[in-house]
Amino acid sequence: MTIDLRSDTVTRPTEAMRRAMMAAEVGDDVWGDDPTVLRLQAVVAERAGHQAGLFFPSGTQANLTGLMSHCGRGDEMIVGQFAHTYKYEGGGAAVLGSIQPQPIENAADGSLPLDKIAAAIKPVDDHFARTRLLALENTIGGKVLPAAYVAEATAYARSRGLASHLDGARVCNAAVASGRPLDELCRPFDSVSICFSKGLAAPVGSVLVGTSAYIEVARRWRKVLGGGMRQSGLLAAACLHALEHHYQRLAEDHANAERLARGLAEIDGVKVLSQATNMVFAQFPAGHCAPLEAWLKARGVLAQILPTARLVTHLDVGAADIGEALGAIRDYFGRAA
Ligand SMILES: *Cc1c(COP(=O)(O)O)cnc(C)c1O
Repeated sequence: MTIDLRSDTVTRPTEAMRRAMMAAEVGDDVWGDDPTVLRLQAVVAERAGHQAGLFFPSGTQANLTGLMSHCGRGDEMIVGQFAHTYKYEGGGAAVLGSIQPQPIENAADGSLPLDKIAAAIKPVDDHFARTRLLALENTIGGKVLPAAYVAEATAYARSRGLASHLDGARVCNAAVASGRPLDELCRPFDSVSICFSKGLAAPVGSVLVGTSAYIEVARRWRKVLGGGMRQSGLLAAACLHALEHHYQRLAEDHANAERLARGLAEIDGVKVLSQATNMVFAQFPAGHCAPLEAWLKARGVLAQILPTARLVTHLDVGAADIGEALGAIRDYFGRAA
């Protein structure tokens, strides 16, 4: 079996998950009568402490719809320079939403400092875009946003008349790592998108949560963006199964990432920069990146080895696999020395 450390998106549905998908009761969700989709949306909204939920084929579309349901043409969102919604979604907010992103530098812990947010909010004046939204991400680069910061930042946004959106693609990792219920992390925001195809290991799916009125607006934009699906209960069943069976076990991924970081730190030639939740960031000598990546691939270990590399743990990587991957990296540097 391949040991794939490239991302937590690479997991394959388990046999039990496939059985749950096969057994799903379905309808036509554009008509609003797929019972499994309706159940997923209700369950996720409740777990996240919000009124309503909406199922999407991808996190990118859930975020874009979420942003477009807060901001109209010529509105502005304040967002981190390294945020997925700014940097890794093809500029969709601007391209398709006519939303002007105002990126600001993330602090080392992933937060956006309040003074920088304050300085970025535009006065009401015909010259400026209308600042409407603060968009945060949790986890960001694997790191859990400090709870006190989230409370402060969302309260500040509200005091300035801004809505707040959380890209919570990995907010379940954040909740499990901090030992707090999901709703505590999601409730401070007006909207949250939650991904099921990352650590939760479903093949497809994200859910956007917010007030019922907000989700009504989002449903229209989802259709416009091509995200209205039909018998999508098959996919929603995988997400329900993931929530029930793969949520608590995210702690194992975090322990395996710790194990990986500890092992890498002992290898001459590798420098561990950080480890948080299911991610390890490490530096490799530039000249060794391509040969090491090929060496690992030949030994059944897939990893993107870059001068600054991100290695990710997930359901399909066990503790023994971490040992094997570390062994292969150790052998490489032992031979190179
Ligand atoms: C993966 C991810 C998304 C959504 O990506 P999709 O591949 O479209 O599901 C959004 N935000 C973050 C932080 C992510 O890691």
